[in-house]
Amino acid sequence: MAVLRIRTNPDPVLRKKAKRVTDIESVQRLIDDMVETLTAAPGVGLAANQVGAPLRIIVIRIPEEEDVITLINPEIVEKTGERCVMEGCLSIPGYQAEITRSESVKVRGRDRHGKLVRKKATELLAQALEHEIDHLNGILYIDYIQDKDELLRTDEETE
Ligand SMILES: [Zn+2]
Repeated sequence: MAVLRIRTNPDPVLRKKAKRVTDIESVQRLIDDMVETLTAAPGVGLAANQVGAPLRIIVIRIPEEEDVITLINPEIVEKTGERCVMEGCLSIPGYQAEITRSESVKVRGRDRHGKLVRKKATELLAQALEHEIDHLNGILYIDYIQDKDELLRTDEETE
């Protein structure tokens, strides 16, 4: 396994619409590396295009939970409600902003073994699923803010 370099905005790979995965066997190594990269960052979620691979794969680890959720070719099939959330992104280090996300989402995709998965999520998991699936469509959370003044610096920033 290896920690991969996380691409940062404005790297053009972040704006590409990622391709569907057709050969699940061929992406096992990439998934391992994505999990290691997410752990090292550390972060809540990572989409494959953030490590330069424009494929429809996301990994999510909710803090305090052991298991990493891996979804291949994920799709949001239903969203309900709206709520304001603070959001950041590993590809836009040092910043966060308040944006609107859904209260709950239903997602379907495949796990790393190719098994069909359906998930209903709320709170941070719903937010992370929307954020990471946006990445696969070339969308960044900053696309939802009106102007740059709404971007706040995070206090982790030391440079
Ligand atoms: Zn992100």
